[in-house]
Amino acid sequence: MLKRLQNDIEAIGAGAFLVTNPANVRYLSGFSNPKDARVLVYANEMILITDGRYNAQAEAESKIDYKIFPITKSLNEFIAELVKGKKLAIEANQISVAENNALTEILTYEPIASEDIVAKYRLVKTETELEQIRIAARIADDAFSHILNYIKPGVKEVEIALELEGFMRKAGAEGLAFDSIVASGYRSSMPHGTASQKLIEAGDLVTLDFGANYNGYNSDMTRTVAVGQISEQAHMIYHSVLEAQEAALKAVKPNLDCKDLDAVARGILEKHELAEYFSHGLGHGVGIDIHEAPRLSMKSKDRLEPNMVITIEPGVYIPNKIGLRIEDLVFVTDNDYELVSKSNKNLIQL
Ligand code: ZN
Ligand code: ZN
Repeated sequence: MLKRLQNDIEAIGAGAFLVTNPANVRYLSGFSNPKDARVLVYANEMILITDGRYNAQAEAESKIDYKIFPITKSLNEFIAELVKGKKLAIEANQISVAENNALTEILTYEPIASEDIVAKYRLVKTETELEQIRIAARIADDAFSHILNYIKPGVKEVEIALELEGFMRKAGAEGLAFDSIVASGYRSSMPHGTASQKLIEAGDLVTLDFGANYNGYNSDMTRTVAVGQISEQAHMIYHSVLEAQEAALKAVKPNLDCKDLDAVARGILEKHELAEYFSHGLGHGVGIDIHEAPRLSMKSKDRLEPNMVITIEPGVYIPNKIGLRIEDLVFVTDNDYELVSKSNKNLIQL
């Protein structure tokens, strides 16, 4: 990794590279508080830099050497001393204008603004990374089975979210992949309706979109369940979304353009005259970040490769009326795919 990074850094005319994106810091170091750390690639090494609060933690977790910057200096001063005589590059999409100005003043030149050099290494996962994601997905699947007993009329969406989240933490999750979405009844038409105080009512569809974080790696899944009797229209939409989801899933294979995969699901919803309500892309990559490359959308230029981790999540949302989504986590394999989310997708009526 160090050699490849050094080549990339040289190619942009730099002699040192400051990694600030927390996901990249975690990827390169394994350190679990990456927001309070940096990775600096310089000379012939790659080091983790953090502050005195994390001495023991950096020692225990970091795969690379680490340095604690002294409380008598600012982080920027410390970095400037380490890279003296070398031209520093930064991650342009991660550093604010204010931080860039502060760094420029201390370095006495403006650092080279580079693209995210590390992101391309994170696209294709190693076996070890896949195993962390499998475990994160298993925790979420178990949480889904557990939560089915709690979803009933009179229970608040937030109570369901808390039960789901508590279960995942107790089952070994380091944290949540993101704020859980529990969207019932009219709120199910909001694709990102995080759990509210709304009470579940008979006849509601309830969309649950959640995931666990395990050793820094995320999982992501969505299921929609029915509470009691639901309308004919709700049944029709559910079966259309499920048909679109399964068709796209079966089409997953290496070398497929992500936009063509999106088109498979969109085509099915078109047939059912629902495509206009499918208001987002088909899915996204998942790893240390919950949303990362590749993007599965109409505009995507990405192409699938073995060991990429993606979601397949078509949805239909009719504003203020009804909505639902079904999402699986999937690994691209050498020939086709591995379905990582194991939860049942047939309509569950509670
Ligand atoms: Zn999701
Ligand atoms: Zn997702």
